Amino acid sequence: MVPIRARADRLFDFTCCLRPFRASGPRLDTERLGDTLVVHNYGHGGSGWSLSWGSSTLAVQKAMAASPKEVAVLGCGALGLTSAILAQKAGASVTIYAKDQLPQTRSARATGSWTPDSRIALTDAAGPAFGDLWEQMARISFKTYRQFLGLPGTPVEWIDTYMLADDGPDVVRAHYQALNTLGFAEYRDRISDLTPRREILPPGATPFPTPYVSRASNMMFNLADYGHTLMSDFYAAGGKFVQTEFHSPSDLTRLKEKLVINCPGYGGRALWKDESLIPVRGQISWLIPQPELTYGLFYKDVSIVPRRDGIVVQAVEGGDLKGFKDDREVADRAEGEAAVAVIAGLYARMAAAPKV
Ligand SMILES: Cc1cc2nc3c(=O)[nH]c(=O)nc-3n(C[C@H](O)[C@H](O)[C@H](O)COP(=O)(O)OP(=O)(O)OC[C@H]3O[C@@H](n4cnc5c(N)ncnc54)[C@H](O)[C@@H]3O)c2cc1C
Repeated sequence: MVPIRARADRLFDFTCCLRPFRASGPRLDTERLGDTLVVHNYGHGGSGWSLSWGSSTLAVQKAMAASPKEVAVLGCGALGLTSAILAQKAGASVTIYAKDQLPQTRSARATGSWTPDSRIALTDAAGPAFGDLWEQMARISFKTYRQFLGLPGTPVEWIDTYMLADDGPDVVRAHYQALNTLGFAEYRDRISDLTPRREILPPGATPFPTPYVSRASNMMFNLADYGHTLMSDFYAAGGKFVQTEFHSPSDLTRLKEKLVINCPGYGGRALWKDESLIPVRGQISWLIPQPELTYGLFYKDVSIVPRRDGIVVQAVEGGDLKGFKDDREVADRAEGEAAVAVIAGLYARMAAAPKV
């Protein structure tokens, strides 16, 4: 297996962004402002890319119920772009209005993994009905991502991820459950038929030195290419982009379109004075890509995702509470260097392990 060249001097970028978390799950209701109908589609926590096609399908169904010829989409991140493309497919002429577009939006700074129930809600606050809605969104999204596999540029692909541990699976599970003191919702079992089960590998089956190694196959989004593909699809279907900033909801009533799909992400907190939106800070440190590296890793609270546009290195100690209510959107180089040192330690341990 190709080793990761885990060296601090190979870190070429550090990015940071805020996950738009709402305890009750994303805001998906509709609201009338004068003669403008607003369909909300924001607050997808750490699952915005994964749920985007499903959530936007539901938003577009509501929007198109009135058969508008023209649709405005506020926002050009994961949710805005998928809403815009689906509204075009439903026959509308679409203009995106946003302060910035990919790759400047927060969405571009995500890990890029299929994580449909990552920080999506708190179980109690969301209630049982949200689980059904979540499942519907996750299933639609999963099926839609199928269409992006095998395309030039590899916008989406499947990878293997190895979880390496010195403790057995029960101990590791108990550790992460103990960290979930707020009760972040876990809905994954509802869609366990979609993805292969994690396999526990026998000792010696891999070169990794830890006593416990398991492997899972997961979908990965190469966001540089995938974002470019979405932008190109939107423009190819006649989409228009207007760079603008809205300062209050009433600004939307001045648009010529009377139907607005509202996808501001964390920007919804200021624009809609929505204090239920909680920031969850997340940082990525980027190692120079290694095209020959095709697997991901999870070792000692560091996660590695082998994207084509850079190897994603993330420190994830603290579980879902890491970064909770932290709105400092600045990257910390020391955090990235410490995470890389952990991975360097893994390969040093492998090199030192007796050969069998
Ligand atoms: C470190 C990290 C890792 C993540 N990893 C994953 C992952 O692996 N998988 C996954 O599914 N999700 C992941 N996420 C979550 C995902 O990135 C978000 O849920 C998603 O990006 C939200 O997309 P969005 O379109 O709602 O918001 P954004 O990308 O923030 O887009 C909002 C848009 O609205 C515009 N806007 C906002 N306010 C205004 C305003 N007042 N006027 C005009 N325009 C405005 C912005 O300019 C932008 O165009 C991660 C998040 C982080 C921080």
